[in-house]
Amino acid sequence: EKFKTGLSKTRDQFTGKVNDLVARYRKVDEDFFEELEEILIQADVGFETVMDLVEELKLEVKKRNIKDPEQLQPVISEKLIEIYDGGENLSSDLAIREYELSVILFVGVNGVGKTTTIGKLAHKFKQEGKKVMLAAGDTFRAGAIEQLEVWGQRVGVDVIKQEEGSDPAAVMYDALQAAKSRKIDILLCDTAGRLQNKVNLMKELEKVKRVIEREVPGAPDEVLLVLDATTGQNALIQAKTFKEAVDVSGIVLSKLDGTAKGGIVLAIRNELDLPVKFVGLGENVDDLQKFDPEKYVYGLFS
Ligand code: GDP
Repeated sequence: EKFKTGLSKTRDQFTGKVNDLVARYRKVDEDFFEELEEILIQADVGFETVMDLVEELKLEVKKRNIKDPEQLQPVISEKLIEIYDGGENLSSDLAIREYELSVILFVGVNGVGKTTTIGKLAHKFKQEGKKVMLAAGDTFRAGAIEQLEVWGQRVGVDVIKQEEGSDPAAVMYDALQAAKSRKIDILLCDTAGRLQNKVNLMKELEKVKRVIEREVPGAPDEVLLVLDATTGQNALIQAKTFKEAVDVSGIVLSKLDGTAKGGIVLAIRNELDLPVKFVGLGENVDDLQKFDPEKYVYGLFS
């Protein structure tokens, strides 16, 4: 249900166009596939992914001797899920530990929805009965610390901070000590997202990561890169930059409710070779969903 409402823009555009295409054509032919390609590209599925998908569909048409576009429609859903999985059956589960401190580092450019995602995820973990703490590692952007504190209050978790301009690695050190002594289950760490000075930011992230590695062996358990779905192919470019600097383990795709180009999920998965772990479907505390390709495609086509 959440997927269905959250994806209403993509449903109106992308799904609407596919349905219209299926209704207009009496048989599956070259023209049909050309129009389908166009629709998929407009939905930000990504050129190469579209080519692969259409190739697969053509094979299925031959194999199953499909003539009628209506027969093809369920195959489109099937193939979209398959293409996402890449035969690997990727899990969106987070790699967190049961009875020890786990540390999740969040990276991403300013404005993509990092703070909001941390707040929503803190809420989710709390609901599961976990002890959660937040680390205000973005000491650069004015207001970032206060914004994280607002989320901390909203969901009822402690926030470890220092003043604006202080060393993020020092904040992280403090937060790790506090998390250990207060027997926290999950520490969620915010970081700066100023991409204007890329080299400095990447150095800062590496330093933060080293502190975490030193203080908690095996951590960070996850490094989640937050991307804004409404920025389309730009999100992919950002992701490539971050991937070069830190070992990203998964993607959170925020603001999927704000775009008609929901196909970006597939492009991210295929072009970055990283799993999408969560999607943001709104601004409220409950609007973060674990990403499930079947529910996603089902949400689009049912
Ligand atoms: P940050 O700079 O990366 O920390 O970004 P913020 O968390 O401050 O988010 C920037 C804006 O995007 C805020 O106005 C959020 O309410 C909004 N936002 C974040 N996630 C979502 C989402 O999934 N859907 C929608 N519609 N808005 C979101």
